[in-house]
Amino acid sequence: MAGTSYDVIVVGAGNAGLTAALAARQQDTRVLLLDKCPKAVRGGNTRFSGGGFRFTYSSLDDMRPMLPDLTDEEAARMDVGTYSTADFVDDVMQVTEYAADKKLTNILVDQSYATVRWLTDMKVKWILSTSTHAIKMGQKLKFPSGRVISVNDGGLGLVEMLFPTAENKGIEILYEAKANGLIVDKKGKVAGVRVWDAFPILCPGEKCDASVDGHPLFYDGDHISGYANRLLLPYFEKVIESVSATPVPNAAAQ
Ligand SMILES: Cc1cc2nc3c(=O)[nH]c(=O)nc-3n(C[C@H](O)[C@H](O)[C@H](O)COP(=O)(O)OP(=O)(O)OC[C@H]3O[C@@H](n4cnc5c(N)ncnc54)[C@H](O)[C@@H]3O)c2cc1C
Repeated sequence: MAGTSYDVIVVGAGNAGLTAALAARQQDTRVLLLDKCPKAVRGGNTRFSGGGFRFTYSSLDDMRPMLPDLTDEEAARMDVGTYSTADFVDDVMQVTEYAADKKLTNILVDQSYATVRWLTDMKVKWILSTSTHAIKMGQKLKFPSGRVISVNDGGLGLVEMLFPTAENKGIEILYEAKANGLIVDKKGKVAGVRVWDAFPILCPGEKCDASVDGHPLFYDGDHISGYANRLLLPYFEKVIESVSATPVPNAAAQ
């Protein structure tokens, strides 16, 4: 990808990166999303999360756009209470023991409902968190305030809904691409992201196939062969030499 230029490069394709990339793409920018992981396990920690979402609301009606199949009969049996801005801020502050940044918390809380609506536009599907959070009280199904809906299929569902949306909207996604530094121009402005790519070393100047000169480059789908490792060894030696030549800060104090 050397020489290719983008308006926005997002590093990391979990929920934060995917949504940042989608928001940037909405501004008609050319966007590249990088992740160090292989495609098969894409989605970072988000992939393993429960998919519960908090946002402010004043009644069940606010959730109707996220739950288009909810019938009036089902709705009549539910008690979701309300979840105000003050409730959400209090919860963030309690859970962080008042360490959360107030300004960022206010942005998070103020934008929470609009964000869930926006995610719905990004093709995220929602379900009621009935099995995980609701309690039956008489004829009513009572939900704790703020914990009413989750992404269908949890975090795995979230990433597997956002990746296709990103692809369909023309975001370029590069897997197994670990960003290891920023490229800064002479004026000190960030001009790019440095990504280590083994392929030009393994197959200089040509398309990388599974073998070079009859030697297999891969041991299996996830690991390169001993032969490929030996090809990369001089590169690793250079990196190790440069690291050992770098002075350790406060070495005398250690
Ligand atoms: C078991 C579990 C359950 C959870 N349940 C919930 C829940 O129900 N609701 C909720 O709101 N939160 C939940 N969370 C928390 C939630 O998962 C995280 O807050 C959220 O996933 C963070 O998203 P992220 O995009 O910042 O990070 P991640 O999803 O971790 O994404 C970071 C990505 O960056 C990539 N990356 C890192 N360094 C580089 C690099 N140098 N170059 C390229 N790529 C890089 C990683 O490979 C990864 O894909 C849960 C967490 C866990 C572990």
